[in-house]
Amino acid sequence: MTDLLSLTPEELEALLVSVGEPKYRAAQMFPQLHRGVSPEQMTNIGKATRQKLDGVAAYRLPTVRRRLVSALDGTVKYLFALGDGNCVESVVMKYKYGNTICISSQVGCRMGCRFCASTIGGKVRDLTPGELVGQVIAAGADTGERISHIVLMGIGEPLDNYDNVVKFLRLVTHPDGLNISYRHISLSTCGVVPGILRLAELNMPITLSISLHAANDQTRSSIMPVNRRWGVDELLSACKTYYEKTGRRISFEYTLIDGKNDSPEAARELARVLNSHLRTRSTTMPIHVNLIPVNEVKETGFRRASDDSVAAFARTLEDNGIRATVRRRLGSDINASCGQLRRAEADG
Ligand code: SAH
Repeated sequence: MTDLLSLTPEELEALLVSVGEPKYRAAQMFPQLHRGVSPEQMTNIGKATRQKLDGVAAYRLPTVRRRLVSALDGTVKYLFALGDGNCVESVVMKYKYGNTICISSQVGCRMGCRFCASTIGGKVRDLTPGELVGQVIAAGADTGERISHIVLMGIGEPLDNYDNVVKFLRLVTHPDGLNISYRHISLSTCGVVPGILRLAELNMPITLSISLHAANDQTRSSIMPVNRRWGVDELLSACKTYYEKTGRRISFEYTLIDGKNDSPEAARELARVLNSHLRTRSTTMPIHVNLIPVNEVKETGFRRASDDSVAAFARTLEDNGIRATVRRRLGSDINASCGQLRRAEADG
């Protein structure tokens, strides 16, 4: 059964023609599908058309299984159920510049980062392009507000689901669909180098965000198994290529874990490594590091770095020419990050 939300307008047109409908039907349906209107609800689509799609194609938006609203800042966290009963999380955050949704790219994750709750049970499956865009549509419909920004920072590794994620980017930015600007989309990766290089070739003006978390191979490999495949040097030279090809700056995420990667020496090393790779004679990339005190996940045993060491870390980076900000924690009262809601649901 074809998933209507996974289709581009051209693919939708081909499907409709194949069941004996006129071409223009696609132009009637696509914008509505992407506004959360099912074929049954479309007033300009007749019963005959619907019957031709029966058993051929389905419209399935993720459904809200749980909704948690932060009393502190209005952040809304969703546990969405997909068509097959699997669940993923999305979070809607309200910023001055607009509403941002953080979406999941896979059910679970196989990257194995040791501090992360999403990877504990491994990867179940990739999300389809329709399930990716469906999170944005369903959250928009539920909040009743326009969502203008998207970050791919929920459960899963987007570059481990490359084709579906790229198709999603084309769908969600489509002028006849949600029409979200590429410049308002960030994709976060733990460092899947071939995916970064493929993305560079596409030259989409999205923001790439790298989950670095350590600047040397020994520490990084000990917390992020992906680093054993693609080490820090290879990752940063892929970043350099990405910047040279696209002209888009990259932001770096650095999760501070008590006693693991939060020392002043680690900050100096981070500045040195970033400067030496990305501020060479041929490249002068503006560098920004987001510092995030680790969210404690009971299974991992890692502890948050102290406020003092976070502040000192930020100062050391600035002293060494690297802009750093400590990430504001939205929705802290509803545990808005981490993939913990899906796990709680799975554990019953
Ligand atoms: N797989 C992608 C996107 C999902 S994770 C990636 O790795 O970038 C989104 C961000 O949350 C990443 O920077 C990740 O390293 C970070 N993260 C995961 N678990 C965390 C935790 N317990 N505390 C703080 N940040 C965490």
